[in-house]
Amino acid sequence: MNDQFIICNKCLKQISQVNAMMHQLYCERNTQQCETCGQQFDVTEEEEHIQNVHLPNTCKYCHTYIKDFNNHTCAQQPHNCEYCQKQFLFSQLQDHKNKCGQQQYKCKYCEQMIFNKVRIEHTKKCQIAILGHLEFICKYCGESLISNQLLSEHESICQFKPFECPYCYLYFDELDKEDHLYYCGSRTAECAYCKSKLILSQKVEHQLECVRRGLMAKFNLKKKESVNKVELIKQCDEFEEDYEAYMQQVEDQDYENYQDQ
Ligand SMILES: [Zn+2]
Ligand SMILES: [Zn+2]
Ligand SMILES: [Zn+2]
Ligand SMILES: [Zn+2]
Ligand SMILES: [Zn+2]
Ligand SMILES: [Zn+2]
Ligand SMILES: [Zn+2]
Ligand SMILES: [Zn+2]
Repeated sequence: MNDQFIICNKCLKQISQVNAMMHQLYCERNTQQCETCGQQFDVTEEEEHIQNVHLPNTCKYCHTYIKDFNNHTCAQQPHNCEYCQKQFLFSQLQDHKNKCGQQQYKCKYCEQMIFNKVRIEHTKKCQIAILGHLEFICKYCGESLISNQLLSEHESICQFKPFECPYCYLYFDELDKEDHLYYCGSRTAECAYCKSKLILSQKVEHQLECVRRGLMAKFNLKKKESVNKVELIKQCDEFEEDYEAYMQQVEDQDYENYQDQ
């Protein structure tokens, strides 16, 4: 006999038809829905759920659960100004770019003073007019490449690419890496989750632990609530039994009294 498979409508796992009844009975009792991400998971696998779903999907800048990072424009993440390459929070970027775009720089092809805001178009025009072809310049080391694709490949491994500090999230020259990490890592800051003071060199580990503890607390609260509900129903049932027994007694008493008369 061939095993037929069906999809459990509670946990969405594939289960064999033969075990369907048993599985669904188990699943009904032991699957819970996470309020934060909406996924269903086995109550015995809370740790795994946090590890596999939440830790990789927690935005390191704003500390919230993000289902799809492609659709997340984080207000807390520093962004580069495309003209001067300095970094700003998203909320300050537009203001800065408006000002920065009014600054002038000297074009290296035609040697004229050009406004930052037309830099990209101007550079292309100048390259065609003076070199006869486009040039793709690495923004870190200035090396010239012949296509956009080669440029992005180069930029991802360029040895002058700045490193992102895991504590303050700003970018620094590779040369300053050691010094900066030492300086930045020894500062203290407030944990975004538990508000306790922590040394920044422990921040990454500490905050992951805080995400984990926060979710566990939520799960435990939910468990306690459902236990309380069961407890309450039990108490109500007991009360009802007692009440019925009491009423029965009263009735019996009345009946006896009635007969005595
Ligand atoms: Zn199931
Ligand atoms: Zn979840
Ligand atoms: Zn974010
Ligand atoms: Zn700028
Ligand atoms: Zn020019
Ligand atoms: Zn480069
Ligand atoms: Zn830093
Ligand atoms: Zn914390």
